[in-house]
Amino acid sequence: MSLLDGLSQAIASGAIEIVDLTAPLSSSTPILQLPEPFANTIPFRLEEISRYDERGPRWYWNDIHTGEHTGTHLDVPVHWVSGKDGHDVSQVPLKTLVAPAVVLDFSARAAADPDFLLSVDDVRAWTAEHGPLPDGGWLLYRTGWDARSADQAEFLNADETGSHTPGVSAECARWLAEETPITGLGVETVGTDAGQAPGLEPMFPCHELLLGAGKHGLTQLQNLASLPATGVLLVVSPLPIVGGSGSPARVLALVER
Ligand code: MN
Repeated sequence: MSLLDGLSQAIASGAIEIVDLTAPLSSSTPILQLPEPFANTIPFRLEEISRYDERGPRWYWNDIHTGEHTGTHLDVPVHWVSGKDGHDVSQVPLKTLVAPAVVLDFSARAAADPDFLLSVDDVRAWTAEHGPLPDGGWLLYRTGWDARSADQAEFLNADETGSHTPGVSAECARWLAEETPITGLGVETVGTDAGQAPGLEPMFPCHELLLGAGKHGLTQLQNLASLPATGVLLVVSPLPIVGGSGSPARVLALVER
């Protein structure tokens, strides 16, 4: 049997399960809120063209209004000034879009402290137990934040001091960018950086350092709780927007059961 026949049969039998890591995309999908004076993205919206009516008697279709960075989406190097000479979202290497992934579960730490920042020691402790980070693959960072994703206020968790959501320390972002073989970082929060990342040095370190190193970000993932720590094949499907800095993406995980 060929490798692909084996894969097809395993999917058909359920020996390999396909897990959807994508947040539903609608006008209530939470979006990032940058403070003044920065410009913001628009909420997702459908604009009906026709629905079995005089505008199109047998068909239904919509135009969509969306930002590139809306809902579950991919960040690519040109999104950040540090990666401005890198690739856009139409140019992402296909082996980044279909690649192995590991899942680091820090949901207990994030539940105790919404400003929890993942450290190099945290990742090193994980690799000592589970093995190395995947070469050319993804680090998926579970914080439990997907449980809040139905509600914008709960998801952004903001007060007068800004947003309070878990992320990665600047030192760890630099280490992931420069010292590890991963192609990207996937998170459950609205962006790859912590809510308090504007105050880190450098500000927004995951964006600054990972995108600056030609790597990637994946945000607003769901269902990481149903994945094993290792042995995941990730499939990321952004739109090939020419010149785009990112795109909403369907993200699927293949897992052996
Ligand atoms: Mn983004």
